[in-house]
Amino acid sequence: MDAEALDKYRTAGKILAEVCREAKPKVGVDVPLIEVAEFVEGSIRAKGGQPAFPCNISLDRIAAHYTPGPKGESTFGESMAKLDIGVHVGGYIADAAVTVDLSGHPELVEASQAALDAAIALVKPGVNTSEIGAAIEKAITGYGYKPVANLTGHGLKRYLAHEEPAVPNRRIEKGYVLKEDDVIAIEPFATDGSGRISEGPINEIFGLTSRKPVRIPQARDLLKEIDDKYKTLPFARRWLEGERIDFALSQLLRVGAIHRYPILWEVEGALVSQAEHTVMVTDDGCEVTTKI
Ligand code: MN
Ligand code: MN
Repeated sequence: MDAEALDKYRTAGKILAEVCREAKPKVGVDVPLIEVAEFVEGSIRAKGGQPAFPCNISLDRIAAHYTPGPKGESTFGESMAKLDIGVHVGGYIADAAVTVDLSGHPELVEASQAALDAAIALVKPGVNTSEIGAAIEKAITGYGYKPVANLTGHGLKRYLAHEEPAVPNRRIEKGYVLKEDDVIAIEPFATDGSGRISEGPINEIFGLTSRKPVRIPQARDLLKEIDDKYKTLPFARRWLEGERIDFALSQLLRVGAIHRYPILWEVEGALVSQAEHTVMVTDDGCEVTTKI
């Protein structure tokens, strides 16, 4: 990997690790989600990075893709809270998540953490992602839970937060053979439910699909704002400025200029925990960029 890319991946990872460590103790039953989300995103910027995506705060059965809306008054309550944080420096991304449990299910949190540790221990050139998935599944089922089978980790590329290869959370037939300089996010999810997630009815996160010509002025201005500020990285509705945001967003969705990231929730309503780190494959192992 060239020196600049390596340096920026490491800087993004270090910022993320610090922000995550500072954010965790701020989570509490009576704390509004928006307070933690804004703390995370503000701290990332204060330390010289940019959010690679909105701070995701997904509670209980929601596995991913929730972030507070513009009003954002809801509190954590006695929930199982996943903080999923992304940082980029010049487009080089770090992606990591922790679960803070206010619900009294510490073993479910341990299960995804143990699975992540087991997966990271395997990473080196020549290892197939199917072996990583098998290790994750084994660790989680060892706790008596199920991995969420239809959520995966992923590759990271410059300004692209969800790239090939998929990193499965279960044993699969055909995986991908890791090679030096691959940058991947490994993210096991554990649940006491069915182990499947589906899309839910809330959309607070969006991303640019294509820079289509748009005639309606509010929509055209919004598309320019999105392209200038976030490029191909996901953004939150609450980050957008200007008049009639919801109207402009709906116009951009209609013409296919942007897409949604609806919440993903466990189909039976069961609790979900998550752990995630970003890992760079080195010549003989790996470097976890998001670990202090
Ligand atoms: Mn993540
Ligand atoms: Mn990820």
